[in-house]
Amino acid sequence: NEAAIETDVLIVGAGPAGLFAVFELGLLDIKAHVVDILPRAGGQCSELYPEKPIYDIPGIPACTGQELVDNLLKQIEPFHPTFHFNEMVETLVSLGTAEKPEFRLTTSMGKIFHSKLVFIAAGGGSFQPKKPPIPKIEDYEGKSVFYAVRHMEDFRDKNVVIVGGGDSALDWTLNLQPVAKSLTLVHRRAEFRAAPHSVTAMQELVGAGKINFRLGQITAIEGAEGHLSGATLKGNEGSEEKLACERLMPFFGLTMKLGPVAEWGLQLHENLIPVDTEKFETSHPGIFAIGDINYYPGKLKLILSGFHEAALAAQKAHRYVYPDKKLLFQYTTSSTNLQKKLGVS
Ligand code: FAD
Repeated sequence: NEAAIETDVLIVGAGPAGLFAVFELGLLDIKAHVVDILPRAGGQCSELYPEKPIYDIPGIPACTGQELVDNLLKQIEPFHPTFHFNEMVETLVSLGTAEKPEFRLTTSMGKIFHSKLVFIAAGGGSFQPKKPPIPKIEDYEGKSVFYAVRHMEDFRDKNVVIVGGGDSALDWTLNLQPVAKSLTLVHRRAEFRAAPHSVTAMQELVGAGKINFRLGQITAIEGAEGHLSGATLKGNEGSEEKLACERLMPFFGLTMKLGPVAEWGLQLHENLIPVDTEKFETSHPGIFAIGDINYYPGKLKLILSGFHEAALAAQKAHRYVYPDKKLLFQYTTSSTNLQKKLGVS
C-alpha cells in the first residue's frame, strides 16, 4: 500500500503555461499539484531571462520574465496549488479508461501521484546550460560562475568575464557593463550570432574603452572556496593571458531534452506532443499538453498561446472530473460564484 498523493490534475512543469493552468482549473473547482525539476516556478521566464522585459503579454505593455512569474504566482494563490520542486516526473502509467481516466505518476524523488488527469506543460523539456570544458568549473557554479543572471547586484563592482558570441552573451555584456567594475567579453571568433544592433552597441563600448574584447577561450580558472579570482585566456594564436575575473558567465547555449515525457507512450511530432485545438488533449484521453511542448498546425511558441490552451484544456478537464455537472460559462467580472473562489467577494 503505497502512500500516493491524490489529485484531480498533475501538472508537469511550472512554466507560465503550467502556472496559468492552475488558475483556469481552479475556477472550475479542479485541484492541481505542480511538479518541476527546477528549484523554482517560472520555466524559461525565470531560468533564461528573469530580468529581461517581455512586450507581448496582452494588457501588460512591459514586464520582466520574473515579474510575469511573480504575478502568475500571485494570481493562483487563491487555489493553493502544491508545488513539488527539484523533482522530475519520470513515469506515467494509465490505470483508467477513456471515459474515466486515471494515472499513476512517479518522480525522481520517489513520490507517487494518483491523478485523474495529467497536464503536460513541459516546455522545451528539462533544459540545462551547456558547460564549457574548464577544469573544476563545477566548484564555482552558483557562487561565481553563472549560466543566467538572477540578480544584477551580484555583479556590481566585480571583474566580470562573459564568454560566447550569441544573444545571451551580447545582451548580458551590454546590461552588466554599467554595474561591473570591469567587463571582458571572450569569443572564439570575431563574428557573432547575435542581433546586429547588440553587436554594434558592444563594438562601440569596446571602442570607447568601456569593455574589453578578447579573441580566444578560457582554459583555466583559479580561486578558492567557490570564489573566483582569475581566469586564463588562451588566444587563438596560442598566447596566454591572465584575466582579472570574479564572475564568469559562459553562454554556450542550452541543451533541451524532452526527457522522460518521450517514454510515456504518447504520439510525438519532432519531439513535440500533437494535440487537437479544441481541448488540447493528446492522443491519450485525459492527458493534455499545453505551452511550448505541444504541436498543432499554426502553433506559435508564445506565452499567450499557453494561456489560451490552458483555458480550453480546463473546460474538457471539467467534463472528466465532474461528468454529471453542467459547466456554465461565467465571467470573473460578473460572477459572484467565481469571485468567491478568488476570495474577492
Ligand atoms: P517552459 O517555460 O519551458 O516551462 C516548462 C517547465 O517544465 C520547465 O520549468 C521544466 O523544467 C519543466 N519540466 C519539463 N519536463 C519535466 C519533467 N519531466 N518533470 C518535471 N518538470 C519538467 N515568449 C513570449 O511570448 N514573449 C517573449 O518576449 C519571449 N521571449 C523569450 C526570450 C527568451 C530568451 C526565451 C528563451 C524565450 C522567450 N519566449 C517568449 C518564449 C517563452 O518563454 C515560452 O514560450 C514559455 O516559457 C513556454 O512556457 P511553458 O510553460 O510551455 O514552458
